[in-house]
Amino acid sequence: MDSEFVNLSVVSWAVSNTCGNILATRRTDHDPSQANRQEQVYLIQEVAVSELRRDPVIGRWVIIAPERALRPDEIDAPKHARQPGPCVFCSGQESRDPTEIYAVRAYGTAPNTPGWQVRVLPNKYPVLRIEGRLVREGVGMFDMMTGVGAHEVIVETPDHDVELADLPEPHICQVLYTYRERMNDLGGDNRFKYVLIFKNQGHQAGATLSHTHSQLIATPVTPKRVKEELVGTQRYYEFKRRCVFCDIIKQETRLTPERLVLQNDHFVVISPFAARVPYETWIIPKLHNCDFVSLTEAQCGGLAHALKQTLLKLRTAFDDPPLNYLIHTAPFRRPRAGYWATIQHDFHWHVEVIPRLTRPAGFEEGSGFYINPVPPEDAAAELRAVTLT
Ligand SMILES: [Zn+2]
Ligand SMILES: [Zn+2]
Ligand SMILES: [Zn+2]
Repeated sequence: MDSEFVNLSVVSWAVSNTCGNILATRRTDHDPSQANRQEQVYLIQEVAVSELRRDPVIGRWVIIAPERALRPDEIDAPKHARQPGPCVFCSGQESRDPTEIYAVRAYGTAPNTPGWQVRVLPNKYPVLRIEGRLVREGVGMFDMMTGVGAHEVIVETPDHDVELADLPEPHICQVLYTYRERMNDLGGDNRFKYVLIFKNQGHQAGATLSHTHSQLIATPVTPKRVKEELVGTQRYYEFKRRCVFCDIIKQETRLTPERLVLQNDHFVVISPFAARVPYETWIIPKLHNCDFVSLTEAQCGGLAHALKQTLLKLRTAFDDPPLNYLIHTAPFRRPRAGYWATIQHDFHWHVEVIPRLTRPAGFEEGSGFYINPVPPEDAAAELRAVTLT
């Protein structure tokens, strides 16, 4: 078979499988199908530097397939139009949703009135409902249980026109304390095994309302992604007697810190070695603890700083990209034989920030592999270089 023909086929496969997933528009008229021979050789060279990387926590493989048109100044991140206020989350609109679960508010102000800084409401369209008994049943070979859980909205500010990253750090601390408070409270309900706190920012990241907010969902089972991390960290600990995240912090902050985005006294921010998507970023506490509920006052300031800087850097680099962040923490440790023996030593809570510049396609869905066109080292360098005024 003609070797040149084989090479060009490989180019075509790789280009369609990386570029095909990119939500962002390339600012170039370059068309690979029309490329002349010189350009094709150039593409072959790019493809040749692709590599497979294994995530040290859960063992997931990703393909890092560098794509030269995915530097921040060369792409247009998908834009999300802000809906104008006031909305149901705005100050002065409390009577439209008088079901306040919790609020950080000025002394002497009544629930469901103005005067709050952070406010928690039940989700109007919950995926799981708080009422009801948890009933498990088998239907033939299938397992089911009743849709019991909690689905809450954390409104981060009464101001309609700002994002979380615009808030002063002490206010972001109040949001983080609210997360901690709600986790603590829901942990008292024996029906729940886990609370996932997450944020959808921008329409393409799943946000349906512009007013900045986060969400939590308490579930009667441990989510699969969390379980994968629990199993992975436990295996690593059994083998090495060390926490994998503590090892990641050590490795990424000494020798050649090429994936380090920033650090402060309490947190490191890195582009993970096997990042799934361009500019995926992890925020990891330097102090080992498996549980977000352990967050101290000093740590809260550090997390507010790290989170704000990360979000501002992404916003500056990509002109306000859609993104998600989520907190991975230990499940509620109800007494259970054979469980939790080493979790305090092997698991390490953290925040994952996931910009939505690409979307998974058939290959990811079918294989569980992710294709990431931006090497994490390049992403970290770009984010380090963003200066904030
Ligand atoms: Zn609003
Ligand atoms: Zn650790
Ligand atoms: Zn995680």
